[in-house]
Amino acid sequence: MPLMLLIMLTCMACQSDDPSPASGPAAVVDNDQVENRGAGKDDWWNALPRPEWSAFERIDVAGHWFEVYRVRDRVYAIYEPGQFEEVISFLIEGDERALLFDTGLGIGDIGAVVDELTDLDVAVLNSHTHYDHIGGNYQFDSIYGRDTGYTKARAAGTDTATVAEFLSPGWVWKDLPEGFDADTYRIRPFDISTIVGEGDTIDLGGRTLEVLLTPGHAPDALCLIDRGNRLLFVGDTFYLAPLYTHIEGSDYSAYADTAARLAALAADVDTVMTAHNVPVVSSDYLAELDAAFDTIAAGSGDYVQTDGNREYDFGDFSVIVREGEIEN
Ligand SMILES: [Zn+2]
Repeated sequence: MPLMLLIMLTCMACQSDDPSPASGPAAVVDNDQVENRGAGKDDWWNALPRPEWSAFERIDVAGHWFEVYRVRDRVYAIYEPGQFEEVISFLIEGDERALLFDTGLGIGDIGAVVDELTDLDVAVLNSHTHYDHIGGNYQFDSIYGRDTGYTKARAAGTDTATVAEFLSPGWVWKDLPEGFDADTYRIRPFDISTIVGEGDTIDLGGRTLEVLLTPGHAPDALCLIDRGNRLLFVGDTFYLAPLYTHIEGSDYSAYADTAARLAALAADVDTVMTAHNVPVVSSDYLAELDAAFDTIAAGSGDYVQTDGNREYDFGDFSVIVREGEIEN
């Protein structure tokens, strides 16, 4: 049986009679293929629905793939809970323009969702160009981005095989969107129209976002600080789940430097917006992240071996480090 057909049949098997996004996973399928994502990921859907989301106003949008929440004034979290990555993109509005910080997996029609949420002109900027954050870029004309070789390579898009994992058994529990074709799913290419670098500001009118280059998780990772509203958008540099210093393109020592840099910003922000699982966490975690890297470097952290890597446990989050990366 062709692989993609097997995937389709498996997804059919996990379809729910009730497609309501709030209903949570309806069935459990084998997901041994969720590897290198940290310990305890085999039943990831058991954490859903995550209670943290109930603190925010749910905004109705068409379709069932995305859930949208107003997480702060004029800041919307666009969440994809039906797929293992549980990606969160953010639409940030000013008085005159809006910025879409990441575009998700490219499974649902994020362009249509954004059209429903705002009448403002929207530019895209990616927290980094891992494929789960750039899937909807192709739907937008104005795309800000880094001028790195890594970014350019990612902007070229993928074939179907490269991202087939995102739809593989155990990775999706929701019905795929109507009209979505798993056989041709890929990351479509996009063009960066405006280059951004360290310290650049994006004026949305009544709200200014400042770009901080924060390599580590990915070479082109960046954060956005909204000083006026004391918000920090961190992409995958921090979230309440295993943090990756071990994957292709990640850089452990750069990540440690980034953690120290962000910890120094803790006095300037109250709220950290993260790109997976849970949208809003306290800025207290910035100091905890920095302390975590110090603990690892000192050789005093507790870790387990996960898929051949070290996973250091810090309670609400963990840090995965390649075996041999550090001396201790
Ligand atoms: Zn990433």
